[in-house]
Amino acid sequence: MATTNPKLKAAVLVVSETASQDPSTDKCIPVLKKVFGDLGNDQWHVSETEIVPDNALAIQKTIRTWTDGPDPINLIVTSGGTGFATKDVTPEAVTPLIDRHAPGLIHGMLTTSYAVTPFALMARPVAGLRKKTLILTLPGSPKGAKENLEAVLKLLPHACIQAAGAESRPLHAGGVEKLEKDAGVSSAGTTTGTGCGHHHHGHGHGHGGHAGPRAHTNPEERPQSNDPSAGPTRRYRSSPYPMLAVDDALKLIAEQTPAPVVEHVPVDMRLSGSVLAEDVKATESVPAFRASIVDGYAVKIPFTGKFEKGVYPVTIVSHAQAGEVKELREGEIARITTGAPLPPGADSVVMVEDTVLKSLTDDGKEEKEIEILTDEIKPNENVREVGSDVKEGETILKKGEGVTVVGGEFGLLASVGTKEVSVYKKPVVGVLSTGDEIIPHNREGSLRLGEVRDTNRPTLITAARSHRFEVIDLGIVSDKPGSLEQTLRDAMRKCDVIITSGGVSMGELDLLKPTIERSLGGTIHFGRVNMKPGKPTTFATVPVKDNSGNPVTKSVFSLPGNPASAVVCFHLFVLPALHQQAGIKPLGLPRIKVILDEDVKMDKGRPEYHRALVVTKEDGLLYASSTGGQRSSRIGSFRGANALLAMPQGEGSLKKGEKVEALLMGKLGEVER
Ligand code: AMP
Ligand code: MG
Repeated sequence: MATTNPKLKAAVLVVSETASQDPSTDKCIPVLKKVFGDLGNDQWHVSETEIVPDNALAIQKTIRTWTDGPDPINLIVTSGGTGFATKDVTPEAVTPLIDRHAPGLIHGMLTTSYAVTPFALMARPVAGLRKKTLILTLPGSPKGAKENLEAVLKLLPHACIQAAGAESRPLHAGGVEKLEKDAGVSSAGTTTGTGCGHHHHGHGHGHGGHAGPRAHTNPEERPQSNDPSAGPTRRYRSSPYPMLAVDDALKLIAEQTPAPVVEHVPVDMRLSGSVLAEDVKATESVPAFRASIVDGYAVKIPFTGKFEKGVYPVTIVSHAQAGEVKELREGEIARITTGAPLPPGADSVVMVEDTVLKSLTDDGKEEKEIEILTDEIKPNENVREVGSDVKEGETILKKGEGVTVVGGEFGLLASVGTKEVSVYKKPVVGVLSTGDEIIPHNREGSLRLGEVRDTNRPTLITAARSHRFEVIDLGIVSDKPGSLEQTLRDAMRKCDVIITSGGVSMGELDLLKPTIERSLGGTIHFGRVNMKPGKPTTFATVPVKDNSGNPVTKSVFSLPGNPASAVVCFHLFVLPALHQQAGIKPLGLPRIKVILDEDVKMDKGRPEYHRALVVTKEDGLLYASSTGGQRSSRIGSFRGANALLAMPQGEGSLKKGEKVEALLMGKLGEVER
């Protein structure tokens, strides 16, 4: 059957820092290709090879391109990065990609290589299926990789054909014996039809082979895997995600955040905080009629061009109200209020201050005659001409301009009667907390041992709303995998950006990353950031279909559970993303330079975002002082804080008087005088 079927596609992924820099140093690809050729019964075609450094994201990216496309590879073997050294991350990178594990294959590989050397147990192989592709992680030494692949290769076509979706019944029709025969193996452990005399022993624990334990690698080929000081459990206890610098994390967020979506909205009070997606032209002029700027008397200037002082009859009264106004004739004047329309024929307005009342009407209720005391009236004096504030057809606001809460932009739109505008749709934010220990903050009664009041959800909701984003409260989710998956799926129907907190550190119940990657098919863009607090901050995107079936991207920010960390990370990472998606510029909080008002300790290990109060002093400069203990669980360190000082990593302190950059979160304080 093997020769009549099209060949199965195999891919080799070498994980090696050295080989990724200089591909000529790689020996694994040729060795493994030869194994596929020699032992593969002509069933395999190695169609892809790639070399990546020991970097979880690079490994995952390569594997995904081979597994997630329309024409997936049947078998991926990786080589390298399965040891116990700190840099070895291949198992951690591959494990979350696997949908169904295949421990039998691991057992087969380990058994075979254990027969050769007990050091085989120092590898941490992973095997299983991602979608239709079988993935196996082989050791990094060419010999080890070769032996492991040889140990299982003949069994793999069957698995790969089934994984690719072939009906398994016909494959099994001849029973296990036929499968073994097709595979060229037998339960007796002898291989048939290879004729090339490899030392491999698929059946024993070292007791069936003709050779005693013998290392197949030279010590210099395996300098890390045997390092006893590394300790067997060390690797599992640290994150496989590379530690990103804050700026690199921000760059990734900016790259992955979906472009703003344009929507037409009515001009109403909900508009403030939005950014215009199109220029706006005035559909009306302001003022729409010639209006008086003062309270006084509208006059007509004779064609001589000179208005004479003297006593004039008041024949018209024009108030600031809608309605017709009679025409003003020469020699008459009209009493007029501020903002009222000038009577047709009127040229200018004389201020009430330049006049005196001369006589009243007979009933004593109205002015009859007024004396105008000045003759220095010019044409159009004290008159707002039609369109002198805004002309019909002129561009009043530009694409990209924000409708601020200061009021000017909204006022302009309102003044010309704009009914609808195009704006960038503000992303809808969903906020949830995770953790079986978390209870609603306002639950009655005292706490049971272990219970923690939900601090993050109400705090993050308040912070996002204060930046004028619509927020949906997604509640508290338990640490059970199903509930998190279900909540996130529901949330992605209603929200564009989801903020979670908790569940991203290394505890065994930390489910966020696996749920996003394995259950929701999302991509983790980073899982660790070099900062304090907030190291485990995780950012992912998940491709979904919107209600009309169009592909859209949802962002998930998984913030650390410790309240102070969650709030810092909201301001530092989430806010710029929300701004970008809403078309708001500049992104994120304003960055200002402040002078330290006291010594502030630096962290030896990481750059720190230090909660501080920034005030203006009489010299007009900005001064910062710490709000105290910066422990990440201590939300109280945010009390009274209006800024985050971007403290560099280092020994000792930055001294009073030194300048440091700060992110301004709230209103500037003032020193008491
Ligand atoms: P986790 O990342 O889930 O291990 O959480 C780290 C720490 O933050 C633990 O002490 C949690 O109890 C605490 N924590 C997690 N979520 C919240 C929350 N919503 N409110 C207050 N504390 C929390
Ligand atoms: Mg938790």
